[in-house]
Amino acid sequence: MNEISATKLLFSSLALDPLILRAIEETGYTEPTPIQAQAIPHVIAGRDLMAMAQTGTGKTAAFTLPMLQRLLPHASTSASPARHPIRALVLAPTRELAIQVHESVVTYSKHVPLRTTVVYGGTDIKAQKPALMNGVEILVATPGRLLDHVESRNLQLNQVQILILDEADRMLDMGFMPDLKRILALLPKQRQTLLFSATFSDDIKKLAQDFLVDPVTVETARRNAAGENIKQSVCMVEHQDKYHALVELIRSRGVKQVLIFTRTKLTAAHVAKQLERSGIAADAIHGDKTQQERIKALDAFKSGAVMALVATDVAARGLDIDQLPLVINYELPTHAEDYVHRIGRTGRAGASGEAVSLVDGAEERRLVEIEKLLNRKFPREAVVVPSGYQKPIKPAPVRSHHKSAPADDWFSKPYEPSVSSEPVKEKTVASVVTSVKPKQVAALFKTRE
Ligand code: AMP
Repeated sequence: MNEISATKLLFSSLALDPLILRAIEETGYTEPTPIQAQAIPHVIAGRDLMAMAQTGTGKTAAFTLPMLQRLLPHASTSASPARHPIRALVLAPTRELAIQVHESVVTYSKHVPLRTTVVYGGTDIKAQKPALMNGVEILVATPGRLLDHVESRNLQLNQVQILILDEADRMLDMGFMPDLKRILALLPKQRQTLLFSATFSDDIKKLAQDFLVDPVTVETARRNAAGENIKQSVCMVEHQDKYHALVELIRSRGVKQVLIFTRTKLTAAHVAKQLERSGIAADAIHGDKTQQERIKALDAFKSGAVMALVATDVAARGLDIDQLPLVINYELPTHAEDYVHRIGRTGRAGASGEAVSLVDGAEERRLVEIEKLLNRKFPREAVVVPSGYQKPIKPAPVRSHHKSAPADDWFSKPYEPSVSSEPVKEKTVASVVTSVKPKQVAALFKTRE
């Protein structure tokens, strides 16, 4: 795309201040990732930027490092809030992503006197006010909560010089366009705007046309999509055998951490619950969990206390987990692009990873969509459940409001947080899992390599 990407660079050749370089050195990064090498010089030069980069490519540092460089002349140790107006605004679609971006800003800015905070919904708005009132140069926010603060007059956006839209495609998918428009109307016209997106859909191009001025476009090799460092495979499995296949797959790989994706909150909750009962430490993150529960689950996963994290697409956006070895698609996503986001959780920053999709016949159409997007065809590996395996006894059907729930009514039962409320099911699953001859099934999931 340009000469910069072709040459191996050192961070020290990127015109970053020694104070920023020191923080980078302390994180242990030795050289910029391709998106960093491409984006940083343009951003330092003050250009608007449209960057196609997925999570896992180092995109957060690609915008944070040059942003810090540009704000450095305003760094101040003064205690006066007036000396710390919001000069950079980073908008992220989800609280998880906002929290992680903020953590990165804290890390990279630790040697410079620039203040930062993060605001997101689902928590007490009053608790976020003092940091804003004290003054911050860099604000990371989800759109809705930012507008709540604007309405409460907790902050002003009239001195914003840099606007960053992170995962802009997801923001549009989640219906944030009206909020974005309102926010953009509050910002000075004269500013630098950086747009990061995993894809350049027509809607994203339109957004860029409307709000960016003469942007430079940078695009990393679609590493995740091409899957160079991620082994991707597809196992065809009967719907009712999926849970069993999942357990055996996890056991056969012998990994310390696995991220499992489901399409619905219900399935995420049920799968996590069943895994726990099968002796695999698991938790779920999905939209019905409180912010506290989600953070707790993520922390437990990062620390290794929880081995299997079951997540829906929205809840998993922006999860930054280093060296995650295995991603399993328990169900294929509704939108093919989410497949790319999902598998991007493994094989990060150059590490190798594995992504396995458990696909039943009803999902074949989704698989074809994914193949179209990636422009590749996956061999369908058949998973046959051994004859000794008993199918789970389905509980009595329960009325469900969820149209998109999978056909197996096991998983379409409403989510009930109380463990004691489903004694029959507990017993059934436990007996199914223990009734399987481990060796026989493990052979179906021979570890690759
Ligand atoms: P991101 O795409 O921003 O979510 O970053 C993905 C992961 O890559 C994070 O864990 C970062 O800490 C890590 N990372 C970012 N830049 C580099 C770099 N230059 N070298 C090694 N790791 C990096």
